[in-house]
Amino acid sequence: GVNDLNVCGIEVKAEAGARILPLSAGLPDDLFEHDGQITKREIRAMTLSALSPRHGELLWDIGAGSGSIGIEWMLADPSLRAIAIEASAERAARIHRNAANFGVPALTIVEGEAPNALAGLPAPDAIFIGGGGSDAGVLDAAIGQLKSGGRLVANAVTTEMEALLLAKQARKGGSLIRIDIARAAPVGRMTGWRPAMPVTQWCWIK
Ligand code: SAH
Repeated sequence: GVNDLNVCGIEVKAEAGARILPLSAGLPDDLFEHDGQITKREIRAMTLSALSPRHGELLWDIGAGSGSIGIEWMLADPSLRAIAIEASAERAARIHRNAANFGVPALTIVEGEAPNALAGLPAPDAIFIGGGGSDAGVLDAAIGQLKSGGRLVANAVTTEMEALLLAKQARKGGSLIRIDIARAAPVGRMTGWRPAMPVTQWCWIK
């Protein structure tokens, strides 16, 4: 309902259910159709900031889930293009619906598993790895196909993926941040901080 969307940062227009989206990245999760596999709002805002889109650039969103990263990339400017790579057919169909609902139907969706699904795609200016990053060859394929001067941003929630990112950073440089978010939530009649799983983010320029 309307109240569900009435969280910080979004204004709901009462008439005809229309909504006015802010220009900043980090839209509320529930504006996207998703199954729980979505980069949460605050993390998404920081991820788009790290991806730092510039006029006319192409993004690969690997392990695109709901498509939220590629969609927010495209919403930043009409000149921007994105390819969402997603292994699950159900989620690929969901990305299609989300892109249509957000008015970015030009988002390209590749249904398939990275790294194989990456072969033959046009070289990107920026790559986000939000899923599949610990699968064999995915990080190296992404690094190999990224344009020179392009940005790679990879998020790890699991310790296995984090270990890969720490090793890459040790060899190639770039920056590491750890994002710890907690949300105030009811504890009985009181309120307490409910922590989300920490996310380790590696950002590297080729
Ligand atoms: N950033 C997404 C959430 C990603 S969840 C969002 O905001 O919605 C991780 C996704 O990676 C899942 O949908 C999973 O199906 C996908 N995935 C996992 N391994 C993959 C691979 N090798 N190639 C493509 N997609 C993969």
